[in-house]
Amino acid sequence: MRANPFENALVQLARAARVKKFSPELLARLARPEREINVAIPVRMDNGNARIFDGYRVQHSNLRGPYKGGIRYHPDTDINEVRALAFWMTLKTAVANIPFGGGKGGVAVDPKTLSKGELERLSRAFVRALAPVLGARADIPAPDVNTTPEIMNWMEDEYEKITGDKTGATFTGKPLGSGGSEGRGAATGLGGFFVFDALREILGVRKGASVAVQGIGNVGAHAARIFEEHGYRVVALSDSKSGIYNEDGVFVSEVIAHKKKYGTLSGFPNAHTVSNEKLLMLPVDVLIPAALENQITKKNARTVKAKIILELANGPTTPEADDILFKRGIHVVPDILANAGGVTVSYFEWVQNLKREHWTEDSVFRKLRAMLAREARAIFARSRALKTDLRRAAFVVALERIEKSLRNKK
Ligand code: NAD
Repeated sequence: MRANPFENALVQLARAARVKKFSPELLARLARPEREINVAIPVRMDNGNARIFDGYRVQHSNLRGPYKGGIRYHPDTDINEVRALAFWMTLKTAVANIPFGGGKGGVAVDPKTLSKGELERLSRAFVRALAPVLGARADIPAPDVNTTPEIMNWMEDEYEKITGDKTGATFTGKPLGSGGSEGRGAATGLGGFFVFDALREILGVRKGASVAVQGIGNVGAHAARIFEEHGYRVVALSDSKSGIYNEDGVFVSEVIAHKKKYGTLSGFPNAHTVSNEKLLMLPVDVLIPAALENQITKKNARTVKAKIILELANGPTTPEADDILFKRGIHVVPDILANAGGVTVSYFEWVQNLKREHWTEDSVFRKLRAMLAREARAIFARSRALKTDLRRAAFVVALERIEKSLRNKK
């Protein structure tokens, strides 16, 4: 049976609550999403037949502000996955200290099997099903796995047609020129680099160290490129089908060009082929999971050789694996900190839409770096003070902020 990521999320919550005492009311409220919506989405396919897709939106908590979180298109997406992702968004927006709560959406579909027209009709139909609960001050979706700026544009357009709302601030991650922010595409990967860079010396990693990246989608490809630009040796990359490894390093732009041309990493010259499982075991300084949940588990955590795991994917490490890695002295920079760059720039986009402003890329990146570096250092200091790992420390910081909002609401 497929592992349930929401169970892992609840174990993480319980563990953080053993490090510091929080009110039973707070813990009870976070253990259950505030609202869950299941929708059946009818779509007219190109052959004239109708197909019904399962869609989900989980609104986990709005204690600190409107629900915020991406929409995923993936054949394995189910309510447990979306629930876990929504929960992590609540914690992540608190870690980033931006005025949002947490939500997430998903559609069980393999978008690679749809034509562009079918994909657009599905995306618009999903918004029609959810429109009553969305809104710039209620619930603000964004891209996630297999969803793109173009899809966000269709969704925002459909939402505007239904509601007449012209703020353009209900979906973030829109294209530039259609209300998108400079820097949103690279934001998650770049934010991960800023977090890493703020902690690098204290975690004992030298500049120019070796890096392996699992998953070269939006997040992983930008991260690989950014680490390379800062002088790091990117030695391994993978997609859902295969991976490549060269201990002397590869040129990231060449790997991405190869993938674009042939649709696969196999056949990339001057590199060994490596499976996704083997990629996680490579002798590298920094391992970056940037694909899906439950990749580092109790089965393989003992064989991980990296010094640091920078979680750009959501939920890639299970709680059992966390314990094994902590005992082995391997630092895990948790998802709710490491990949918070995406939602932080989504917040900047939302502010720009509401204020009718357009900020330069330089100003977006400067603000992003300052916010993430501050939070990363504060979380590291808490982990030392509480004698615990970075995940528990990040949860403690987030829970304190959410608890404050809960108290203010009474
Ligand atoms: P994406 O669809 O652009 O890319 C996903 C990549 O993962 C693809 O290259 C795919 O081939 C690969 N992949 C899928 N299954 C795999 C497997 N089993 N092993 C190795 N690779 C596999 O998605 P994305 O937006 O880059 O998201 C990646 C991760 O980052 C997800 O966990 C997502 O929730 C998280 N995340 C994304 C954002 C964002 O802004 N897009 C923000 C925060 C976190």
